[in-house]
Amino acid sequence: MSTHISNAGSGGTLFIVAAPSGAGKSTLVNALLERESSISLSISHTTRPPRPGEQYGRHYYFVERTEFQREVAEGIFLEHAEVHGNFYGTSRNTVQELLQQGRDVLLEIDWQGAAQVRKAKPDCVSVFILPPSRAELERRLRGRGSDSEEVIERRLRNSRGEIAHAHEFDYIIVNDRFEDALDTLQAIVRAVRQRTALQCQRHESLIRELLADR
Ligand code: GDP
Ligand code: ADP
Ligand code: 5GP
Repeated sequence: MSTHISNAGSGGTLFIVAAPSGAGKSTLVNALLERESSISLSISHTTRPPRPGEQYGRHYYFVERTEFQREVAEGIFLEHAEVHGNFYGTSRNTVQELLQQGRDVLLEIDWQGAAQVRKAKPDCVSVFILPPSRAELERRLRGRGSDSEEVIERRLRNSRGEIAHAHEFDYIIVNDRFEDALDTLQAIVRAVRQRTALQCQRHESLIRELLADR
């Protein structure tokens, strides 16, 4: 009896992770992907300039504003939003193809994008990451050492507006002790994968056999 975990046919699950800048979203997501290699991370398009070390196609598809606007007009985005003065968007085709192959897909997007995706795909699962305190959020943003003072101030100012939308998400995780937050994020992914609707499709033949008259 096959008990393989392929989702092909039933379609993968779309996960969203959002957080105020500096809460630890990218660090948590990257660590989750190390543990759960069957999840694909969607690479966003952005007009933000690359930070030192960021690579085209690995962290983002970095594009000019005019190109981004053309892509919006062409309708290539599942969602797009202006965040901290830059534009960000998620490619509809890439996400759709991966989901159809049965892959779980994770979007690291802001709350505005999450609201758009919820409308388009109501069965998505969304998680909001909170920092343990305002002081710690500021410490992490500065400690990351990737942004100018002006950018850090702007992100801190915007964090209230983002956190005000935390209640719209299915799950909230406080990223205090990193390993605990990571375990919790992984537990959410694993629990979602055991949902009855998915399991009934995946294990259809097993269930049929178990129910068969002898
Ligand atoms: P960081 O994630 O705070 O380190 O900073 P980034 O500059 O990488 O991302 C800025 C914001 O844009 C975050 O809130 C992201 O979640 C959001 N973001 C990134 N990609 C996308 C996207 O494709 N769509 C939307 N709507 N938001 C995005
Ligand atoms: P985001 O993607 O939400 O902007 P990052 O993942 O870049 O945030 O994390 C911001 C900084 O905080 C990074 O330097 C990261 O190493 C650090 N960090 C993340 N989680 C924790 C944690 N639980 N405790 C201490 N530092 C953390
Ligand atoms: P950063 O510029 O620090 O990488 O990201 C800043 C914010 O933009 C983060 O909150 C991040 O989640 C959000 N962001 C990144 N990519 C996307 C995207 O494709 N769509 C949306 N809506 N937000 C994004």
